[in-house]
Amino acid sequence: MSLLFGDTGSGKTEIYMKYFQEMIAQKKRSIFLMPEISLTPQMSQRLQNHFGNSVVMWHSKLTPLQKKKALSAVYDGTAKIIAGPRSALFLPIKELGLIVVDEEHDDSYKSSSRPRYNARDLAIYMGKIYDIPVVLGSATPSLTTYVKFPHIRLKGGYFNSQKEFIYERGAESLSPLIMSSLQKSVTAKEQAILFLPTRANFKYLICGDCGHTHKCVFCSVGMSIHQKTRSLKCHYCNFSQAIPQVCIECKSTLLTSSRLGTAEAVKNIREEFAEARVEQFDRDVITTTNKLKKALKNFNDGEIDILVGTQMLSKGHDYHGVTLAVVLGMDNMLNMSDYRAREKALSTLIQVAGRSGRKESAKVLVQSFNEAFFSAFVDKYEDFLEDEKEYRKELYPPYKKLCRILFSHKNGIKAQDAMNEMQECLRTASDIEIVGFGKCGIERVSDKYRFEILLRADKSTDIIRAISTCRNSLAEIDMDPIEFG
Ligand SMILES: [Zn+2]
Ligand SMILES: [Zn+2]
Repeated sequence: MSLLFGDTGSGKTEIYMKYFQEMIAQKKRSIFLMPEISLTPQMSQRLQNHFGNSVVMWHSKLTPLQKKKALSAVYDGTAKIIAGPRSALFLPIKELGLIVVDEEHDDSYKSSSRPRYNARDLAIYMGKIYDIPVVLGSATPSLTTYVKFPHIRLKGGYFNSQKEFIYERGAESLSPLIMSSLQKSVTAKEQAILFLPTRANFKYLICGDCGHTHKCVFCSVGMSIHQKTRSLKCHYCNFSQAIPQVCIECKSTLLTSSRLGTAEAVKNIREEFAEARVEQFDRDVITTTNKLKKALKNFNDGEIDILVGTQMLSKGHDYHGVTLAVVLGMDNMLNMSDYRAREKALSTLIQVAGRSGRKESAKVLVQSFNEAFFSAFVDKYEDFLEDEKEYRKELYPPYKKLCRILFSHKNGIKAQDAMNEMQECLRTASDIEIVGFGKCGIERVSDKYRFEILLRADKSTDIIRAISTCRNSLAEIDMDPIEFG
């Protein structure tokens, strides 16, 4: 088990390919897990160019015929490398010699429906059972992996580019500085990307003057706005308080929770620069693999000047000519009601910045009130991981185990009764702590009311023992949860 901790462009993929080659020489097969293979056509192409028919791509967008072909290559052994998202782990592969988990920090490895497994952890477990090596790779590894496994550090980029980070204090908006930077880029016939984080279900209150946000006093995570009850709420312990009218830090009344969407940003930029070719790059527009390939090709052929997108922009695509990356919405990520908010925000910024300036020098313009945090760690991810250890100790993984128990039912009373019953039983269990319980942040999904309990313990065995004692037919168990809402 080892972690390949390598900067973008430092040659992680070349190392994986060398391992695959060694496996082929030993007549063994490899699984290559990727977060969402249909989103990374460039990686698929690279593997196919190198390994030809020995590599099989496995993903949900295959046609029935492609699926049949892929499966027969797995069965008859012509497939030496099976590349795919988490479901690739379940293929019947003989003579398995290696599992590589690329972008191990990626949330899509965790299944958000039953069974709620994490493919990265399952890969590690399979490695132990079969006694084979598992290689986890990332430029921004999760703290959990970093703490648990030894790592090999690959520093510096092959592209050896110069990056200049510029910070602008402000909440999520297309400020004059951003507009003028985009204008310069268009005039110079250069390419720019503009990143906006996916709009989550929750809004957070940010002071427009000093950037202060409200954190739960018990959990040190951001509190989200619940309009219906005009309150701020912690998703962990369910503590809530009235929405403040003035900032407690600087007494400003300029409290904002407005968010900018990709479609709106595209519209505003198009209105401002009629001559610029601006395209939207997110799940609303890029609905098929072909549309994705086409958008990437158009951008790399220089037919698009400004690409405006969400997390999809940062997913390992190779843009040759980008010299300006504008990053908005970092403070909203940093203030999420989630103990991994800092890790998520910083790794996203690094991944987006890594997409720009692969050939020449580039500017990364970050709109945030938290320059101190980002500038301290943006090119020192190890330092961040060390700092993060302190914040997580006593409270969060990898030092503590969390478990979320969900109850959902069309009849809200039934769900609530089940939660109360289980919660009362769990109170009698030893070695576990009930962090909070009550209505979920998202109170209703597909016509069902949702309630939850959040547990914390030193060991997962303590949690498992308590849960099996207090079993409830409505309870849906989510061990090591990553979604809180
Ligand atoms: Zn303030
Ligand atoms: Zn709390």
